[in-house]
Amino acid sequence: MKTYYACMLIMLASCSNSFLYAQNAGGVTPPQGKPFIVVIDPGHGGVDPGARGSYSTEKQIALGVGLKLGKLIEQLPNVNVVYTRTTDMLPGGGSDVKAALRYRASMANKVGGNVFISIHCNSAPAIRHRQFAGYRTVYRRVHGKRVKHRVRHYTYTRTPNPAKGTEVYVWGVNKNDDKGVALRENAPLLNDPEYRSLFDSSGSAVNEIFWNTVRHEYMRQSLALAADVESQFAKINRIDREVKQRQVGIWVLHATAMPSILVETGFISNPEEERYLNDHQDEIASCIYKAFVNYLASVRGESQSTILAGVESPAPVTDNLTYKIQLLVSEHKYEPDDNRLFGKFDDPVSREIIRENGAAVYRYMLGNYKTNQEALQRLGRVKLMGYKDAFIVTYQDNKRID
Ligand SMILES: [Zn+2]
Repeated sequence: MKTYYACMLIMLASCSNSFLYAQNAGGVTPPQGKPFIVVIDPGHGGVDPGARGSYSTEKQIALGVGLKLGKLIEQLPNVNVVYTRTTDMLPGGGSDVKAALRYRASMANKVGGNVFISIHCNSAPAIRHRQFAGYRTVYRRVHGKRVKHRVRHYTYTRTPNPAKGTEVYVWGVNKNDDKGVALRENAPLLNDPEYRSLFDSSGSAVNEIFWNTVRHEYMRQSLALAADVESQFAKINRIDREVKQRQVGIWVLHATAMPSILVETGFISNPEEERYLNDHQDEIASCIYKAFVNYLASVRGESQSTILAGVESPAPVTDNLTYKIQLLVSEHKYEPDDNRLFGKFDDPVSREIIRENGAAVYRYMLGNYKTNQEALQRLGRVKLMGYKDAFIVTYQDNKRID
């Protein structure tokens, strides 16, 4: 759920962690040998449920996904996971949402986090519908006389908002200054007298340029991670609503002195997505995990296989099946958006190419459904529309498996 708070910067007097930043090709990472620290921040908690679905709340989903993500990341060698909460409570244990927000950021800064990943889910308001329900007779006084009137009468109903899909946020450009302050205030290297003499808080030009470079690099890294999380979601056919910068600041994203992203895992207000958010948390966590592995490889300048060395189950995804309806197979190459052929379908048509004895043959596939049930419902209609031989095909990781 969107968290709008005015900028309140934490002034941390000291930093317990004293590792130095190492500038390398990938950006700013802990020096060789030091563990990479991932801060996982399940949104909301305790008295703050976040957005509500019909049977679950955002705080439950954020915690479920956050813990599953942490379990996956903890397997990686030389990577430590720190959670802002591991139970149903506000970080810090109180009941003040704003204090908990400050706690999230200050904890991330104190432990010297190298990346901050906040987990949330979205909500969109129900849609109100007005229906004409007939006429009613009412009486009004006109010049002292009682006059009969017929007035239109309406009933109102609400249906869940169909909004769905994932969004990943980085801090807004208008919060660049705040991010810069958070970096300066929390820089571990400021504990080091030698570095302090180079980069003191005098506001010198060198100082400015240095911090702008760090901030710029963090933004680049945050954007890379955010874009990869979205592309992992897109691979399993979640609707990708793209990486965004919120103009109204997401406070934790710019109060943390490290690359930071906020993942909106889906819309709890949409009944279909609420089921998904509750039943497929392993899959959601696995997407973020895969993006994190790529991210770590990039900032460490190592290969993925080095990062994953000794990890038993890199990404246990068991439920990434989707279903399409095969409409026809033809040697003719039609455009999937050809209106004369496929215009009567509500769902998009895709084309697959196969080779038979060296010749190209095309398969035309309808939709991309999350459940077999959903595909079956469409199949009935497709057959009625004249595609008598249409059938359902199962895909795993976007690969046809039958
Ligand atoms: Zn939220």
